[in-house]
This record gives sequence, structure tokens and C-alpha cells, in this order.
Amino acid sequence: PHPNLHRLPLPAPPAANTLVLRARLVTREEQALTDSLPGLYHYRFVQESLQRELSRASRSKSPLSLIVLDIDNFKVINDNHGHAVGDRVIRHIADSIQRHSRKANVVVRYGGDEFCIIVAEGDLDTARAVAERVLTEIRNSPFADEAHGIPPQPLTVSAGVTTYRPEEDNAFSFFKRADENLLTAKRTGKDRVVAG
Ligand code: GH3
Ligand code: MG
Repeated sequence: PHPNLHRLPLPAPPAANTLVLRARLVTREEQALTDSLPGLYHYRFVQESLQRELSRASRSKSPLSLIVLDIDNFKVINDNHGHAVGDRVIRHIADSIQRHSRKANVVVRYGGDEFCIIVAEGDLDTARAVAERVLTEIRNSPFADEAHGIPPQPLTVSAGVTTYRPEEDNAFSFFKRADENLLTAKRTGKDRVVAG
């Protein structure tokens, strides 16, 4: 992680009825805490949001799905154009994700180039459709800053999607399955949604 991680501005504040839970960055101190155990903080942070939505879903007996997203080949942007441009690309992608997630969804940036969308009251097909919409939007919105000599940068993300199984899941297994689907999306060529 680079030194500016804690200063990258978050996406614009949510509209009044948008449920964007505690989307914020891991601070430098927190980063230091988690460096020895990569991923631990991610899980703890996202799981708190998930736990809340899981309780809500059980009470209302409504479906709940999860999309995890990771920017494809993001290191190349950093390497070619520097971290400042990389930060703005993350912001650009975060905006696309927020704009194209339904209002009732929870969007969390939980790692450098990783995001998740908790699809409240959405089944697997709904969540897959949300993910496809987000991917299409990102694919069609290259980042460019001609004024600073940055030519259009094609951007893509990969997504893993799953739906909560009340009989067998806890927050951890739910998240893990989405993450495994994301890994499959990466391994099978990126810029795609794997749902299941
Ligand atoms: P993949 O397609 O497999 O996801 O490859 P990738 O290049 O995107 O690499 P990966 O997701 O494994 O790593 C993401 C990189 O993003 C690692 C780190 O250097 C960089 N990064 C993480 N947080 C930030 C940030 O806030 N700003 C910038 N500019 N870079 C960041
Ligand atoms: Mg990535």
C-alpha cells in the first residue's frame, strides 16, 4: 500500500436514501496493524456491515446477495502513470460503482482496489444483473485526463457474486464464496462476472 492511501477522498456523499455504510479508508495505523495478517482487517470491517444486513435479511426473510469487485491490472496504471493518477482512477471507478448500484445497496471500499456491494433484498439473478451493469459501465467509461497528458485508459473490473444461504451460511462463508467467485473471474480472463 502506498503512503497516500489514507488521504484518498471517498466517493461523493450518498443521496439521503442511499445506504452506504461506513465506506472509508483503512488508516495508516490500521494498515500497520494488518500488514502482518493480510486481509484480516478487511474481513472484520466488511463482516460488520454484512452482519447487520444478515440480521435484517433473516428478520424480514428477504434474500441478500453480495458482489465483490477488484480492478483488473490496476498495478499497470500505477506503474505507467504514478500513484496520484492511480488514486484518481480508483475514485473514478468508485463513482461508477455507486452510480450503477441500486439505491438500496451498500457499497464499501474495503481494500486498495477492492469494493463490495451488499445487495439488500436481491436474489442471485438480481445481483448478477447489478454486477453486469457495473462492469458494462466501467468498460464503457475509460479514464482520461488529456490536460495532463493522460490518454484514455481502458478500465475493467472483475466480480464475484453470491447469495446468502440461511441454512448453512455465516457472514464469513458468505463473503468467502463471493471472493472465490472473484478469483475464478480473475483466473478465467478478468472483465467478467462469476456468480453462484
Ligand atoms: P489483478 O487484475 O489480478 O487484480 O491485478 P492488479 O494489478 O489489479 O493487482 P492487485 O489487485 O493484486 O493489487 C492492487 C494494487 O493496487 C496494489 C497496490 O499497489 C495498488 N493500490 C492499493 N491501494 C491503492 C491506492 O489507494 N492508490 C493507488 N494508486 N494504488 C493502490
Ligand atoms: Mg486488482
